[in-house]
Amino acid sequence: MKTRRDFLIGSGMATAAWLSAGTLLAQAAAQNAQPGQAEAANANPAVQPNPDLAQTLRTAAAKETIKTTKLRDTIFLLQGVGGNIVCQIGPDGKLLIDSGISTGTDHLRDALEKLDEHRLKLLINTHWHFDHTDGNAALHLDGAFIIAQDNTRSRLLKPQLIETYAAHFPAAPDAGLPQETFPESETLWVNNDEEDLVHTPDAHTDSDIFIHFVKGNVIHTGDLWFNGMYPLIDIGTGGTINGMIRGVDQVLQRADERTKIVPGHGPLGDKPALQGYREMLVTVADRVEKLKAQGKTVEEAVAAKPTADLDAEWAKGSIQAGTFVALVYDSL
Ligand SMILES: [Zn+2]
Ligand SMILES: [Zn+2]
Repeated sequence: MKTRRDFLIGSGMATAAWLSAGTLLAQAAAQNAQPGQAEAANANPAVQPNPDLAQTLRTAAAKETIKTTKLRDTIFLLQGVGGNIVCQIGPDGKLLIDSGISTGTDHLRDALEKLDEHRLKLLINTHWHFDHTDGNAALHLDGAFIIAQDNTRSRLLKPQLIETYAAHFPAAPDAGLPQETFPESETLWVNNDEEDLVHTPDAHTDSDIFIHFVKGNVIHTGDLWFNGMYPLIDIGTGGTINGMIRGVDQVLQRADERTKIVPGHGPLGDKPALQGYREMLVTVADRVEKLKAQGKTVEEAVAAKPTADLDAEWAKGSIQAGTFVALVYDSL
């Protein structure tokens, strides 16, 4: 029998080819909220329980094909379930940013084969989260050498919890662990371009990097940016609102009017859109900081609805307005 959740996921697939984990998470969170969990969520306004998240994403990714968008002659955006993926092609072999969900790997291989004849050589992870790394092991067995920030590897070595969803994730298999890690930054010279990998500390997690294709003028922000949505700040694994703002500022400093900026979730963006998102982050941080300075508890800060005038534009993804306020409060 088709459950209501299957129906919601199925209808989402049909209506939005670029459907990201953000939308899925919102649907799944709504479906999985049991009465007991709703009480728990009320007890902690930073929690929207969705304990079956990993399985929900794997079920959805098995069905979803990948949409390919050409960004430059050698750089492509690949979108399915999970975080946005970028592929650079060229004589040195394919370079991939993020690996998506493991059950979507066959769809990803089909999309990669259509780009050119070269093999996949390098895989970069933007951060440790499951929707960006679950496909690592299969792609490593296909021949990819995996590079990430130090904390991505140390987190993938052990089971992890995303507190906001009360969702547990298993440790990655050995083949899914990065083979090379770095603490702050790394420069690659691949496929006639320069690729700068830059760590942004204490941002969405403690493991985030963005990737700048200098000649190609494309930046993948990882989950520093949820385009058009309130973002998840994963406080339990080191995220903070001020670190996210600093990270976004680093991306903005490198971008010009022609830069194509790929968010972790949501549609392809550009500098003006990222500036608008930064303004939203700063506005919410300032308002919540004032409430906190007045001595309001997190529950009182959420009840004050400090984002009421922003919600129509930004409360469109997996993170509800009250949850975002609580995450900002908790990380200040
Ligand atoms: Zn993500
Ligand atoms: Zn993430």
